Amino acid sequence: MSMDSIYTELIMSHNRSGHNKHKLADASHIERGHNPSCGDDLTLQVKIESGLIVDAAFLGSGCAISQAAMSIMIDLVKNKTVEEAKALANIYLSMIRGEHVSSEQIELLQDAVVFESLSKMPARVKCGTLGWHCLDVILEK
Ligand SMILES: [Zn+2]
Repeated sequence: MSMDSIYTELIMSHNRSGHNKHKLADASHIERGHNPSCGDDLTLQVKIESGLIVDAAFLGSGCAISQAAMSIMIDLVKNKTVEEAKALANIYLSMIRGEHVSSEQIELLQDAVVFESLSKMPARVKCGTLGWHCLDVILEK
């Protein structure tokens, strides 16, 4: 399978399953992200306990890329410490900006690596980074 079809398949499957798209009743942090250029409006809800991200989910509406990037991010950071999640956000945002990222770092991103191609699609960058920016704001609090 080519990278393009893996990318399409992952995005479709995350949007179909919607397993991370629901209300988190006991969220400790909530951050809304808005991308006016595309119309994406997503809210990330995270439950942090003793420095560990024990649960996360999102709500809102947005394009397939923004929702899949958010959902894949949630899978990735759940059960990680705040410090680990911060490091992942840095790696992901560097990758999207087209900066140098080592292969060891890329491996840590797991499925989120499919969004690397966004670095060549400037119009979609904000879609693919919306969820990560919400996470960044929460983790800096
Ligand atoms: Zn979008």
